[in-house]
Amino acid sequence: MQIKAPRGTYDILPDDAVKWQFAEKTIRRTAERFGYREVRTPVFEHTELFERGVGVTTDIVSKEMYTFKDRSQRSLTLRPEGTAPCVRAFIEHSLYGGVLPVKWYYLGPMFRYDRPQTGRYRQFQQFGVEVFGSDNPFLDAEVILLLINILSELGLTDYEVHLNSVGCPQCRDAYRHKLIEHIRPVREKLCDDCRVRFEQNPLRVLDCKNETCHLAITGYPVLMDHLCSECREHYEIVQAALRENRVTYIHDDNLVRGLDYYTNTAFEVHIPGIGAQSAVGGGGRYNGLVQECGGPDLPGIGFALGMERLLTALDSREGENTLSRGIPVFVAVMGAELEGTGLKLLQELRQAGIECDKDYNQRSPRAQLKYADKLGARLVVLLGEEEAQKGILSIRDMQSGEQISITATEAVSFIQKKLAESGEENAG
Ligand code: AMP
Repeated sequence: MQIKAPRGTYDILPDDAVKWQFAEKTIRRTAERFGYREVRTPVFEHTELFERGVGVTTDIVSKEMYTFKDRSQRSLTLRPEGTAPCVRAFIEHSLYGGVLPVKWYYLGPMFRYDRPQTGRYRQFQQFGVEVFGSDNPFLDAEVILLLINILSELGLTDYEVHLNSVGCPQCRDAYRHKLIEHIRPVREKLCDDCRVRFEQNPLRVLDCKNETCHLAITGYPVLMDHLCSECREHYEIVQAALRENRVTYIHDDNLVRGLDYYTNTAFEVHIPGIGAQSAVGGGGRYNGLVQECGGPDLPGIGFALGMERLLTALDSREGENTLSRGIPVFVAVMGAELEGTGLKLLQELRQAGIECDKDYNQRSPRAQLKYADKLGARLVVLLGEEEAQKGILSIRDMQSGEQISITATEAVSFIQKKLAESGEENAG
């Protein structure tokens, strides 16, 4: 029986890993420029954390978690998202007593038992940020600007920002009743999930994935008309700050998050060109979450970006293939008795910071040159009997075909200079 990767998972082979490294590096650099620092939390947590921190009525918790009992019969769950673990770590290490706000970013795998399709996997990677300890609306704008800066640093310009405010529990309360009354007469037209949840959680009907639910509730009252003056002002400042920084956004009444700990700003970013799953990231403010998870009453805000969808967007950029690169230097050994000398030379070059390789499969000299070409080598160092005896090396430029001989002692600095001229990274 051939064993394959589990459904909804995938391998990243080295040619693709180069793109991941590029995206990850760019994202980290951008986040750090904004004053965020990396946090790494475990891949599994106590199940209860997600039940409380994500909410038992959400699809994630009710249908999609990888939950298992360990050998001590504790219920553990592979993390389906990164916010609840960050909140847990923030509380567990009493960071609320230190300098605020705390600005974190994370990058790592998440797990959801969802129906796999293009852009949706069971193990996927998210980059996310969380900020704890400030309710300043300019911070909401900064968080959105970070997301947008990441996209433009990656060369992605074709995106749409959707924005809304979900108010606070107080202004939402009056609104909820109105919405329930609007939905009740048409409840038979709703999907099974919405029919059950609309009384308990009517906002969830607004972001249901089923088009029929949307049609059934057309003309519904919008939350924006029910915000209290504080929430309205918060939203206005966020919008003005975005406009001042030339961010174009779409106000979207459908963008809601149906749980009480979500407050004020909610946003989502779509890249329309990447297919049906066009949402690359989303987030918002969650002023009630830290307390919900057992901490003090401190505000928070964050977002998560789906790395697979970002990479799809990167792939669909036209004419962009500067990322695949080979090994810059290859040492061709002309005879088995010189293998040891070859390895010693590699060691010297590598210690000088030069990426290099040699043949390990007894190829003929001709075949080694072909192999060097396949590896994408810019320079080939030819190490023959005669050269070894005289203490010299021949170095061939694979692009121009030009070949020169130099003394072995000059080799490292010569190669470094040549690579620097041709703009190779890692030239030492
Ligand atoms: P969420 O945590 O559900 O708000 O999702 C944030 C982002 O993560 C989405 O916009 C997607 O880009 C990505 N994402 C969520 N679920 C998946 C999944 N199952 N597979 C791939 N990407 C996902």
